[in-house]
Amino acid sequence: MIKRQLRRAALATLKGGGAFGLIRDSAWRRRRLLILCFHGVALDDEDQWRPYLYISPQQLERRLEILRRENCAVLPLAEALERLYKRDLPPCSVALTFDDGQYDFYRQASPRLKQSGFPATVYLTTYYSELQRPIFSLVCSYMLWKARHVGSADLREFGIQGMAKLDSQQSREAAAGQIVQWADGQDLHGQQKDQIATSLAQRLGIDYDALRARRILQVMNPQEVKELAVAGVDFQLHTHRHRTPMSEELFRQEIRENRRRLASIIGGGQTHFCYPSGAYRPEFLPWLAAEGIVSAVTCDTGFATAESNRLLLPRLVDTSARTDLEFESWVTGVGHFLSRRRRAKLAYSSD
Ligand SMILES: [Zn+2]
Repeated sequence: MIKRQLRRAALATLKGGGAFGLIRDSAWRRRRLLILCFHGVALDDEDQWRPYLYISPQQLERRLEILRRENCAVLPLAEALERLYKRDLPPCSVALTFDDGQYDFYRQASPRLKQSGFPATVYLTTYYSELQRPIFSLVCSYMLWKARHVGSADLREFGIQGMAKLDSQQSREAAAGQIVQWADGQDLHGQQKDQIATSLAQRLGIDYDALRARRILQVMNPQEVKELAVAGVDFQLHTHRHRTPMSEELFRQEIRENRRRLASIIGGGQTHFCYPSGAYRPEFLPWLAAEGIVSAVTCDTGFATAESNRLLLPRLVDTSARTDLEFESWVTGVGHFLSRRRRAKLAYSSD
């Protein structure tokens, strides 16, 4: 806490002293590409449920305004990477990426991006795009959070022994994890899992039909993906089922399936990849290369440079916890010197 306050005070002082502009316009910054990573832009209250995964639409607007004000060169991902390795980046280069492709991108992010004129890449996971149900593992956690005021609940029919405690984040996440594990153990298909979510909602007193109708925690449907692709949004690979199996055959199958489904919606040719949940292992690199992947992004914090491994590109994950000043410090480059490097929290587990 004190560390964070000190860092913020230091940033304010540095900004006041002109260091932000100095670093932003430096040769050092010019050799670097900031790949920004966003997940969700809240349709309702998702940013209060998972502040590290969701931001408010207002926060996105402020971020885009900062990019405009700092005269950032917001480039399409492919162009940005090509110029990074040719050492030909314009000053203050940024690329915008959004993981998963949830409906809130269509509803909240895309109109705001359009207004700003900034290009963006969406790493789309295709299984839930076709299923058109809330992502099971996420919606279980979200509903337990929604029901947090009841304190505890009898969820034995969902594989939880004893009363499930809902009054702390830790116990809710543990309960959600148990439910997901219990469902996974039964080898159910997506609609059966959605039935479980429906029953869980009923037990918790949540209107699941209303939640579904608002498309909360759902991935964009193929029609929406197509519409945005026509409008210029770049869609790239994120595996079909948001998972990276440790078997080469299954891992490559995930990419092929993801690519095949994307090809059927918007045409093929996708060669950029994002590791689901930011989770990567050295074994994956040759498998990705064998599938013709030319770039892969992680959720590790940092700038990409011409020395970065193309299949392990760091990003800056934006979260509700990041202040505008901290965000601006990263855009200009100052953040690199002051912030802690850390791996981002996981997006959602495979299911
Ligand atoms: Zn993801």
